[in-house]
Amino acid sequence: MGPLPTQMQGFSCPSCSNKGVLVQVAQNIPLFGHLVIQTFSCKHCGFKLNDVMEAEFHAPTRLEVRVNGKEDLNVKIVRNSSATIEIPELGAKVEPGPASMGFYTNAEGLLERVGDALNVLLNSAKGKELDTAVKVLEDLSQCRQGKKPFTVVLWDPYGNSKLLGSRVVERPLSEEETRNLKKSVQLFESEKK
Ligand SMILES: [Zn+2]
Repeated sequence: MGPLPTQMQGFSCPSCSNKGVLVQVAQNIPLFGHLVIQTFSCKHCGFKLNDVMEAEFHAPTRLEVRVNGKEDLNVKIVRNSSATIEIPELGAKVEPGPASMGFYTNAEGLLERVGDALNVLLNSAKGKELDTAVKVLEDLSQCRQGKKPFTVVLWDPYGNSKLLGSRVVERPLSEEETRNLKKSVQLFESEKK
């Protein structure tokens, strides 16, 4: 695939079922190589979906990296929309769903995303739920300043996600682990290798 975006018509919108447009762009991202960025948009209902993936599927993988301080916050993360991402120390988990987004960020950016989600929750939380959210936000702030170590774990049934850092540990997923993962709706069929 060349550097020019490929436009494809006629994909059904997951939100309203009308036909939308899918745009694919192959990008060469430093350190990661060639990735395909997909953007689906529906002019009928405004639904948008982004994803980032390698051009092919791989074996199910578990990736883990320990973030011990400020320098480690630069660990790069490519999360495919079908991957589950977890920060056990914060009790934070992002599971794939119908509107699941792929993204390219670093550990600091991931904390920011979790923080944004928590702040939304904070507006409606009451009682014990509110106490928990406040506590997690405090911990998260410590993590962002590099004062509290934490772990980033990625579970990817298609092995399309990546972590890039000196202490990344990678291992294949067992069949059972793969079965237990939440699956996202695969909008776009890729050839299985
Ligand atoms: Zn739509």
